[in-house]
Amino acid sequence: MTFDNFNFHPMLRKAIDDAGYTEPTEIQLKAMPKILKGFDIRASAQTGTGKTGAFLIPALELLTRSQKKGRGPRILILVPTRELAMQVSTQATKYGKFLKEMKTVCVVGGVSYETQLRKLSKPYDILIATPGRLIDFLEQRKIDFPRLEMLILDEADRMLDMGFQEQVETILEAAPKNRQTLLFSATLQGSVKHLSEKYMNKPMDIIVHSDHEPHANITQLLHYVKDLANKKKLLEHLLQEEEMDRTIVFTSTKRQADILVKNLHQGGHLAAALHGDMTQGRRTRTITQLREGKIKILIATDVAARGIDIQLISHVINFDLPRNVEDYVHRIGRTGRANSKGIALSFATREDTGLVKRIQEFTGQEIDLIEIPGFEAPPLKKKPMKQTFKPRQRKFSPAPKHRRR
Ligand code: AMP
Repeated sequence: MTFDNFNFHPMLRKAIDDAGYTEPTEIQLKAMPKILKGFDIRASAQTGTGKTGAFLIPALELLTRSQKKGRGPRILILVPTRELAMQVSTQATKYGKFLKEMKTVCVVGGVSYETQLRKLSKPYDILIATPGRLIDFLEQRKIDFPRLEMLILDEADRMLDMGFQEQVETILEAAPKNRQTLLFSATLQGSVKHLSEKYMNKPMDIIVHSDHEPHANITQLLHYVKDLANKKKLLEHLLQEEEMDRTIVFTSTKRQADILVKNLHQGGHLAAALHGDMTQGRRTRTITQLREGKIKILIATDVAARGIDIQLISHVINFDLPRNVEDYVHRIGRTGRANSKGIALSFATREDTGLVKRIQEFTGQEIDLIEIPGFEAPPLKKKPMKQTFKPRQRKFSPAPKHRRR
């Protein structure tokens, strides 16, 4: 099945061709016909599978099929982070570029209200928003939904994990009941399931890849190191020795990210940090610099890196392993996108052994161990059992063998 089978609006089709897509991805093949027929869907698909196109392309097609006068968005896309909002917005512009009067507005935290208000005062069709800022505008009655036809929850699990449950529910309550609702999430269980049961209309489930299975085109490697100092030396060594085009290094703290950037600058590397303490403007500039190749190494924390879609990320390095096993899959999914090959290398200390085991259980895949000479971790020593207690002294002397009767 090709894009021809969908009979898309010629200008939408032209944009798809222009993007260089020759055929729909699996999630697109499965989701697009159902969305075009008006069904609510719950889809579980990894980032990198084309899931954004899977909802944006049919959403745009539906917009071209009817006119609706009035104010407010016809399509609302709710996302957990500013970065993902930017990413979805870029794709919306890509697919809608030949469609006249298809305006997109992005409403996210961390940027000026005035600019967003100005954009909201003009006619627009698609609204991409993070929950917090959208609620602000809803309360101020700067946005309402008289003509909303479709509501899309992207990365719904992450949205709920980040504590947006109440806001998401408020937004779902504010939307017209007869809307079409699409939900995309790594998992369709737990709170996501409850939410969908409460607010969706007989949703159809689409599961492409379980989020547990990392892409086949990502080579996963693991290197045990002695300690933090060794991790730093190993990173420096790899960046010197290996051919790394664009690399994302994940740390567990913002502070560690900043420290590493400083170290790498001293070593003459083109590196920059990406974390939640940076202004939105700086984050966007950093991502653009990485995309343009002006920066080669991005040192990122989990939340900030979510939603980054940059082709040709050659390596992902887990400088610190994520505490949450699902984050492991999200992190390594930054590489090996859209059919390219990628390498994901994790550093672990012996204290991480349990975590490594949990990650392998979660993904169902064993991570290949590597060892670069000079950076070997000390072998796991079998600790001698500590004698923590003295053998109890018998209070009574053993009974005599021959008791007297
Ligand atoms: P996503 O899973 O939405 O983050 O998309 C990952 C990447 O795949 C994006 O860079 C898209 O532009 C690209 N992509 C989406 N659909 C297709 C397609 N049908 N063929 C090739 N690449 C695609």
